[in-house]
Amino acid sequence: MTFGGMVWHIRLGLVMAAAGILLAIAPPASAQAWSVGEPVALCVRPDRGESPREILARPTGFDCDPDQRKHGPGDFWAISPPLRTVATPDNALRIRTASLWQGRQTLYAQHADGTIRAFPTSDAAASRRLQLGALFEFAFPADAPPVTRLLWQVEDTPNLRGVVLGARIGSAAASERANLTMAAIYACFVGLCLALLIYNLAMWGALRHRFLLAYCTMVAALLVYAVSSSAALSWMLPDIPNTMRLRINYMTLSLAAIAALFFARSFFEARIFNRRLQTLVTAVSALVLAGGIGMLVTPDATIGAADRFYSIAFLSVPLAVIPILWRAWRERSSYLWLFGLAWAAPIAMAVARALHNIGVLPWNFWLDNSTILAMAVEAMLSSLAIAYRIRLISRERDHAVEQELRTRLLAETDPLTGLLNRRALLSRAIGRAGEQVLLLVDIDHFKRVNEVVGHDGGDEVLQAFANQLAAAVPASGLVARIGGEEFAIVTHLVDAPEPDRLLERLRGATMPFDLSVTASIGACVGPLASDIDWKQLYRCADRALFEAKAGGRNRAGRTGRLAAIA
Ligand code: GH3
Ligand code: MG
Ligand code: MG
Repeated sequence: MTFGGMVWHIRLGLVMAAAGILLAIAPPASAQAWSVGEPVALCVRPDRGESPREILARPTGFDCDPDQRKHGPGDFWAISPPLRTVATPDNALRIRTASLWQGRQTLYAQHADGTIRAFPTSDAAASRRLQLGALFEFAFPADAPPVTRLLWQVEDTPNLRGVVLGARIGSAAASERANLTMAAIYACFVGLCLALLIYNLAMWGALRHRFLLAYCTMVAALLVYAVSSSAALSWMLPDIPNTMRLRINYMTLSLAAIAALFFARSFFEARIFNRRLQTLVTAVSALVLAGGIGMLVTPDATIGAADRFYSIAFLSVPLAVIPILWRAWRERSSYLWLFGLAWAAPIAMAVARALHNIGVLPWNFWLDNSTILAMAVEAMLSSLAIAYRIRLISRERDHAVEQELRTRLLAETDPLTGLLNRRALLSRAIGRAGEQVLLLVDIDHFKRVNEVVGHDGGDEVLQAFANQLAAAVPASGLVARIGGEEFAIVTHLVDAPEPDRLLERLRGATMPFDLSVTASIGACVGPLASDIDWKQLYRCADRALFEAKAGGRNRAGRTGRLAAIA
C-alpha cells in the first residue's frame, strides 16, 4: 500500500469511528419520541427518616447536581421544583423516569389542594409500571387536583447510574404515542434479527462456515437483549423483578460481545489470528463472561462492585478489537475494511457506555437506548460482510476446482497428441460392461519417417495420425497413445471401427510432408471387467499385431473371435 493510500485508509477509519461515536452518544432530535414530555430537573439528598410531608413542607439540604452518583449507595429523597401542571379529564398526566436498580421506590405527588398521594413500587412490582423503552410510568387520576410537586423516596439503591433519572411529565396521549413509536422501532429490530438469524442459520446448514454460527449466536443474544432491555420482557412476564430484567440485560450483552469476538476470530483469514490474538480473545471473552455471570448472580449488596467489574471487563472488548484490526491491516486481510465499517458504531457505542459507567461521560437518555440502533447497523453491515466473504470463498473454490480439472487433464493426456495416456486408458477401459474390442495400431517403419523428416517432423506425423484415429472412433470409444508410435482403441463391440476400413482411411489421409503412412493393426474382442481381462485382451491383440507385422505390415491381424466384426 502506498503512503497516500495508507493515510486515506486511516482517515476513513477515523471518520467511521467518529460517526460511530456521534451515533452512540449524540442526543438526536427524535429523542423526544423515546422519552416523552417536559423534562423535570431533580435534586437529591439522603433519606434520614423524615416523612414526605416534612420534606415537602421544608425541602432543604438538596443537591441539584445532575451527577447523582457521587452520593453513593443508600436511601434517598429526590424532589422536583414546584410544578404548574394542568390535566384535562380525557388527557390525564403521566410521569416517566428511567428504569434503575432500586430496592423500592415511592413517588409522592403533592396536589394543589395540599393532599399528598403515594405511588409505592417494590422491585418485584416494578415490571408492571414499565413502558416500552424501559421507562417507569405513573399515571395521575384525571379528576385529581393539579400536581404541584413530586417527591421520590428511593430505598436500597446501589446508585449505579443515579437516584432518579430522566424524569419527564407528559400527557397520556403522548405516552401512548411514545409506546407505539417504541413498539415500531423494536418490532423493526426484532424482525431484522429474526430474518438475519433464520437466513444465516440456513446458510450455515448449507455451507458450514463457523463464522455463520458465531454470527447467529450474536444475533440471538442481541434479540434477547432487545426484548429484555426494551422492557417487552416485563410486558410478557409482569411478575419478573425489574432487577432480574436488568441482570438479564447485562448477561445477554456479555454473550453478544463474546459471540462478536468469536465471529471476528472465525471470519478473518486463519493467518490473522495467531496464538497471541487467540489467547487475547479467549481472555477477554472469559473476562466479559465473568462480568455477565457476576451481574446475573451477585447479591444486591455487592451489585455496585459487580457493575464496576462488568464495565471494566466490557471495556476490554473494544480494546481487544484494536490489535485484531492492527494485525488484519498488517496481514493485508481482504475483510479488514468491511469489518471496520460494520463495527465502528457498536465499538464506539461500547466505548461511550463504558466511559459513562466510569464517570467520564454524563448520563444521556439516548446512550441508554443506543445499543439497539448501533447493533441494527452492525447486524446489517455484517450481513454484507458475510456476503462478500462468501463471494471470495466461492471464488477460491471455483479456482481450486478449475485447477484440479486442469491438473487431472494434464495427468491423463499425452502432451504431444492430446490423446489419453496409457494410465488414463486403463483406468477408463477396465470395468466397461459388455464385450469390448481392443485395437492396437502401430505405425509401420516409423524409424524411417524420423530419418526422412527429422524427429520434429516425426512428431507432426504422430499428431496428424492421432487426429485421424480420434476422428475414426465413436464418442463412446477410447483412443490412447500407449507407446512412441503405438496407439490403442477400446470400443464397445457394436460400434467398433472395422480394422480394414480404418487402415484404408489412414492410408488415404493427407500427412505432413506429403508422406504416405501405413500402419498395422492387432485386434481382439473380449470382456474388460477386470485387470486380468485387460491383460488377456492386450496379449491377444498384441499377438495379432505381431502377426500383421510378420505378414508384411499395412494390414490387420485378427484373433479367432474377431471374425465376429470382420
Ligand atoms: P515397425 O514397422 O516394425 O513398427 O517399425 P518401426 O520403425 O515403426 O518400429 P520401431 O519400434 O523399431 O521404432 C519406433 C520408432 O519410433 C523409434 C523411435 O525413434 C520413434 N519414436 C518413438 N517415439 C517418438 C516420438 O515421440 N517422436 C518421434 N518423432 N519419433 C518417435
Ligand atoms: Mg512401428
Ligand atoms: Mg512400435
